Amino acid sequence: MSELVIRNFHVSIDGKQILKGVNLTVKQGEIHALMGPNGTGKSTLAYSLMGHPAYTVTQGEAIFKGQNILELDPDARAHLGVFLAFQYPVAIPGVTVANFLRTALNAKRHAIDAADKGISIPEFRKLLKEKMDLLQMDQTIAGRYLNDGFSGGEKKRAEILQMAALHPEIAILDETDSGLDIDALRIVSEGVNALRGPDLGVLVITHYQRILNYIKPDFVHIMLDGRIVESGGPDLAQHLEEQGYDWVREKHETVMA
Ligand code: ADP
Ligand code: MG
Repeated sequence: MSELVIRNFHVSIDGKQILKGVNLTVKQGEIHALMGPNGTGKSTLAYSLMGHPAYTVTQGEAIFKGQNILELDPDARAHLGVFLAFQYPVAIPGVTVANFLRTALNAKRHAIDAADKGISIPEFRKLLKEKMDLLQMDQTIAGRYLNDGFSGGEKKRAEILQMAALHPEIAILDETDSGLDIDALRIVSEGVNALRGPDLGVLVITHYQRILNYIKPDFVHIMLDGRIVESGGPDLAQHLEEQGYDWVREKHETVMA
């Protein structure tokens, strides 16, 4: 059973301290929701865990499978089994969804076993069709350039498709719900739920409680000013839905001062 253990995680951007000591453990099989007002550092946590160069880790560690992933290149982190779905996926004109996924999948297989010759085309087609059916995606999207002209819903589904194809042990989904209409939200959530199981740990990052009506978390955390200030069960998200974030701010004013 793998787990991602984040300890005393401090991150700055352009010399400005954004994360100020995050502690969080996500185990395979668990769904964690990370909530909080805008600008509190949720995306910073996701991006810096994946090694985005704009973020400087000033303290702390993130241990996965016995390694501090903060010391690894971004692709090595992915190959080890940590997946990040972006809040704002980038378009890659000229690279089809199918080619992108096959390249990513083969890179991961090669990293695990240097002798791996890569997935065969028929085997890959079968896998892709199976995952696209699971996510109720139109098969024609496989032949389109990645995220190029995709609607918000298509981009999010393409992210979940990547996750389905790469089957990571830990997935971090940053604001998977932003820009989705209710049908797309339901389909993306069903996709995540379909992938849910003892092998997958998920950190769902969201500002709104909405997606948590579909993806039921086991644990809920609230981030405020670069720290996790509250942790609890699903009832915590419900409480936020009803009360907003004001009580969190009032309760933790001293922390922020
Ligand atoms: P959240 O995802 O919780 O809304 P972010 O992690 O995106 O918050 O942002 C946290 C803080 O870091 C904000 O004050 C934001 O303005 C700042 N920030 C985020 N990304 C950058 C960046 N690339 N350059 C400068 N400041 C940034
Ligand atoms: Mg964000």
